[in-house]
Amino acid sequence: MFRNGQRIKPVGSGWGGRRQHQLSWPGQVVRAVAAAFCLGAALLAPAALAQPDPDAPQLPAPLPFLAPFPPASGLPGQVQPVAPGTRPAPALPRLQLTPPIAQVFRTEYLSNGFTEVAHTVLTVTPQERQHLRPLAVFVARRVLAARPSLDEVDISVYDQGSYAGFGGPLPVLTASVPRARLDDFLAWGTRRRPYERVWVNPGNLPQFRQADRVLENVPLPSGAPASSLELQARRQGGRVGGLLYRGKDPSLPLAALTFDDAPHPLFEPLLLDLLRRSGTKATFFVIGRNATAYPYFIRDMVQQGHEVANHTYHHVRLPPLPLADAINEMRWTNTVLRQLTGKPVRYFRPPGGEYTPETLQAARALGLTTVFWTDDPGDFQNPGAATLQGRLQSKLRPGGIVLLHDNAPQMLEVLQNFLRVARQQGYHLTTVGGLPK
Ligand SMILES: [Zn+2]
Repeated sequence: MFRNGQRIKPVGSGWGGRRQHQLSWPGQVVRAVAAAFCLGAALLAPAALAQPDPDAPQLPAPLPFLAPFPPASGLPGQVQPVAPGTRPAPALPRLQLTPPIAQVFRTEYLSNGFTEVAHTVLTVTPQERQHLRPLAVFVARRVLAARPSLDEVDISVYDQGSYAGFGGPLPVLTASVPRARLDDFLAWGTRRRPYERVWVNPGNLPQFRQADRVLENVPLPSGAPASSLELQARRQGGRVGGLLYRGKDPSLPLAALTFDDAPHPLFEPLLLDLLRRSGTKATFFVIGRNATAYPYFIRDMVQQGHEVANHTYHHVRLPPLPLADAINEMRWTNTVLRQLTGKPVRYFRPPGGEYTPETLQAARALGLTTVFWTDDPGDFQNPGAATLQGRLQSKLRPGGIVLLHDNAPQMLEVLQNFLRVARQQGYHLTTVGGLPK
């Protein structure tokens, strides 16, 4: 068993052991943290944390402490949180809480140069699920106090027995807590007020299906009818037989900016912040199950004027699936997105760009245009920021469709520069819906 990325001590071997807290959380956690707090408070507690907060639940005050932390090795089923690549993604910095919270698996944080966000993953036993609200509030307070530069902490609480990373079974609870909304989150924790940036798994979602580790690399049509359509769609641009490879009128300096595999609780607020700062609207190809678990990010996208599109429910390759399953992958995602946005979904991108004449026809029957791309700079391959920037700039064309991934760290590094250069070159980057078709 791992806690905070480290193997924890077995039962009875001291504070931090999982089973010590199984039956009586948060009581034992509170006592253990309080004891540790007494030992270190004189040296570590800042004056701000010593101020009593009359609205806060009765939980121990956090200790600010940041220490470097080694990256964990991959987990089974962990196809994300960073896009899979031929080169390893750079390790994200980790925040270590001192004293630790037994349920915290890890906290990663990242900045886009303007705002800094942390994502804390927790795992809980069935008994601890009775205390999700106070646990989530306790963790949010501790993380924000431990790193004053954080603007937001996002929380994903998983069932301990089935946790298999971001691509595994969905969390039991998620929350997004901007520092400025911490009081509102505390009020939710004590059931005094509702809080809209939280999601609790209702337990009746579609059965878990493992995501495919596919790269949106080269669109792969299969079958003669789709292939002939593809040639036509590539040649003339615009929508042809339900396919879209590029915009129709190359005389206009318009190109579409698209992000696949959204939303992600660490990267999404950082990406949305950069787009907002530059005034750029984009299309997000959303994984339905992740939209379900992080609905507030989908609402953020719509509120900021972005377009939300379909990228299957489980991020699976469609051609090997029975057609009924492939249709469900598209249909379920349409349903989730329509419920969240109030709008019909118009665009679909198959994972890996893989489709068949049957899935193309099924997408059309669901009102979806199947969208590919003209420019894949390979952000998921982690080629390095300079290489990525060069590829983006050199391939930008009128009518183009730029493919990026919302969870590629190097994308975040270069996006602001790319948007600035594109604007200087006279390009207007927009949504797929904004391209002439
Ligand atoms: Zn994808």
